[in-house]
Amino acid sequence: MPELPDVEIARRNLQRWMRGAVIVSAHSTDRRVLRPTAPSTFRSLLVGRAVREVSRRGKWLRIELDDGVRLFSHLGMTGDWVARDVDAAREPSERARLMLSRRDVASSVRYVDPRRFGRLIAVRKDISEWRTLGRDPLADGLDARSLAAAIVGRRRSIKEVLMDQNVLAGIGNIIATEALWGARIDPRSKTNDLSPDDANAIARALMTIIGREIRHKAEGASRFRVYGRAGLPCPRCGAKLLRIVQATRGTTFCARCQVRKGQRAKVS
Ligand SMILES: [Zn+2]
Repeated sequence: MPELPDVEIARRNLQRWMRGAVIVSAHSTDRRVLRPTAPSTFRSLLVGRAVREVSRRGKWLRIELDDGVRLFSHLGMTGDWVARDVDAAREPSERARLMLSRRDVASSVRYVDPRRFGRLIAVRKDISEWRTLGRDPLADGLDARSLAAAIVGRRRSIKEVLMDQNVLAGIGNIIATEALWGARIDPRSKTNDLSPDDANAIARALMTIIGREIRHKAEGASRFRVYGRAGLPCPRCGAKLLRIVQATRGTTFCARCQVRKGQRAKVS
């Protein structure tokens, strides 16, 4: 499922492909992906307008056009933007197609999404999903103090709080799992049991993983330490990695080297 690094890569691609180009045609009949935009509105709002800027907050992309029009894009579970030859055939998972012209060069950018959980919303003002997003670690920066300020007063486990898009934008199951392992903090720890040192460790781990994933994905590779590796040895201490379910999402972690905050130390 796309998280901040994947969406940032998509933003960079779209910026490269679209910035300064005029949208010559816009086609989509997928009412589920377009909701609540009607296909005719999608077409009429986009066609003839130039692309000014492609920005990102959390897992949302915002393609800003002339006249205050903007196209919001969320990749859902399986969405992605791809560049294709102008006359390339439609792929089965294609949900929208934009034909572009930049300095008299024609190009085609398509939104593909096999499972159709993604969104494409053409509007004239920012949508509420965008306005309510929490701090974006890449766009806004993140350190111990800003992380502590974002999570203060939250009563749930740190894993659930990290994945709340209104607290921190862009963190999903993979980054949260990897960051808590990196910070040696048990994902079941309650947020208000965390010390400033813990907040510092989590903020540093988040920034490290996000930076590393963007670099790896830009090169077409990625490697996780714990995510998806339940039952295999912890890369740090060798104990078997465990899998638990928190708020319906699986979490892999090491019960030996990730500390459960707020619990009395084990007597060994
Ligand atoms: Zn371990």
